[in-house]
Amino acid sequence: MSKKIAVTFKPYERTQYAYDKLRVCRKCGNYTVLADRVCPACGRGSLQTVPDAARRNFRRARQGELLFALLLTLLAMLFADNTEWIAISAAAGVLLTAGLWLAQRRSLEPWTRIHTDRMFARDNNRIRGGLIEDIRAAEARLQAEPARAYEMLREVNTLLRNDPIRSLQAELLQTFVLRRDMDLLLDPLIMDGFSPHLAGYIGEVARLNRDLIRESAIQYCLRYEPQIRNMHRGEDILAAVAGAAVRMKRYIELHPDFIRRYAHKLPKDRLIRLREVLSQYPDSFGPLRLEADEAYRVRFYGQAAPQTGRAERS
Ligand SMILES: [Zn+2]
Repeated sequence: MSKKIAVTFKPYERTQYAYDKLRVCRKCGNYTVLADRVCPACGRGSLQTVPDAARRNFRRARQGELLFALLLTLLAMLFADNTEWIAISAAAGVLLTAGLWLAQRRSLEPWTRIHTDRMFARDNNRIRGGLIEDIRAAEARLQAEPARAYEMLREVNTLLRNDPIRSLQAELLQTFVLRRDMDLLLDPLIMDGFSPHLAGYIGEVARLNRDLIRESAIQYCLRYEPQIRNMHRGEDILAAVAGAAVRMKRYIELHPDFIRRYAHKLPKDRLIRLREVLSQYPDSFGPLRLEADEAYRVRFYGQAAPQTGRAERS
């Protein structure tokens, strides 16, 4: 394996909705997640969020209605017979326009939500095209600025999730020296297919920040356990994941056999943690308890259980 490089990357900015990161260009209609102001397609500083673009369309459409109301008022005043009717027409026109304006203001936010959704449906292909351009931009930096390329892919992955993008990120991450203080993401990278890069990354994350090992990562290891075992130090990866899983009783309940298979390779503190949890439930987890107890004896006293103990299990 080539030497890993030391990098830093920005923390991942989390937003309420995935599309909060998306920007659309007012001039050329290009979509991107990589820039806030300057459009990467046309170079003009005319990017805005999709809801802002919807709001802008709303204002433009509604301005016509207001102008029409004013025009009606003027016409009524023009055709009025005397000053009294001119005053009545003017007053009615002002009331009508003000009422219309108020009604428009009220409908702005619901309208914006509906039209934001419509823009996503209508521009689905254009959004995809923009994101693919974003990926190309990231790929262009792979060699010179791999950390920046990773950051860019991470942004695209917010909206466009597929195995090739995840795989590229996992591969990049495997070339970096990872540290505990980095803002590492795992769940968005879990792929459908097997990737040794992802498996290696899961193993590192399990060692660096075990809180990131959740059900999806455990499921991935279960699904590709044979492939991971065949990897260089593959058992260590699986043991690290099993070690991370024992932090929660729920994972022990869900995956007792998986944890049992790697009990003998668990780091000491994880083995102690496992036995601690098991001791609270003396009536459950029989086979796992036996394996954990034996791993503990071997680890701390350098001896396996007597043969009779083993026979009971089989
Ligand atoms: Zn543009």
